[in-house]
Amino acid sequence: MSLTKPTLVIGNWKMHLNVQEASLLVHRLGKHIKPHRDVEVVLAPSLLALQPVSLEIDRRKFRLAAQNAFYKDEGAYTGEVSFTMLRELAHYVLIGHSERRIYFGETLENVRDKVQAAVRNEITPVLCVGETKQERSDGQTRRVIHDQLTTAIMPLTSEEVEQMVVAYEPVWAISTFGHELAKPGEIEKVFRLIRSEIKELYGSNAAENVRVIYGGSVDDQLAGGYLELDDCDGVLVGAASLNYKQFSGIVDSAYRLEHRSEKKP
Ligand code: PEP
Repeated sequence: MSLTKPTLVIGNWKMHLNVQEASLLVHRLGKHIKPHRDVEVVLAPSLLALQPVSLEIDRRKFRLAAQNAFYKDEGAYTGEVSFTMLRELAHYVLIGHSERRIYFGETLENVRDKVQAAVRNEITPVLCVGETKQERSDGQTRRVIHDQLTTAIMPLTSEEVEQMVVAYEPVWAISTFGHELAKPGEIEKVFRLIRSEIKELYGSNAAENVRVIYGGSVDDQLAGGYLELDDCDGVLVGAASLNYKQFSGIVDSAYRLEHRSEKKP
């Protein structure tokens, strides 16, 4: 885990919680989570709840992420919301989540365009990459990660890559797709691959400073084990982020580990 960057804990609420329910969860999280200098807690409500939630959060404790946006800044695109419209609301945006790739047919190029649009609008992209169960059993993991990562970051400068977040989320480990627990060695191997691909394209600074996080059935019991992995800068949490006790437990694990690493010589 990086000693200089705060640990990132992102809660992806997906298409759950109406505005009232979102407000209740924010209220409960606010009571249970204390501001931590070393842990950055990010909430990703639905697009509809993003604006009301932005008025309710304690900004010392929480930042916001959008779950998606369209890559054009403005125009006749019925039903879409642009990154330009989100720039005052969201610090982060999830891009290339497996649910978007699988259910909405987002291609490598769509993801690349969205990453570019986020950067253009000064919103930090959280680029999600990960192989399906079939790709894993076919021995295609390295190729899938390579393709998803390199296509998405190709138009960026090394400074832009340095600022972004890459979330490794094996599709088979996401609670709604497979719920299979990934082994630490397996995750670390992909973390190393992500950094080495970035090093090759953008050099050591970008490879060392990009934040690489893990997602896939993370809950309050498992979070510590993932956060302890070599090179893990945080977690992306789906189902468990809807439960305030679980999510604040995950934030506590991140805080305990950061606190421990501060004390290391
Ligand atoms: C996700 O959807 O990004 C995710 C990791 O979900 P879950 O924690 O429910 O597996």
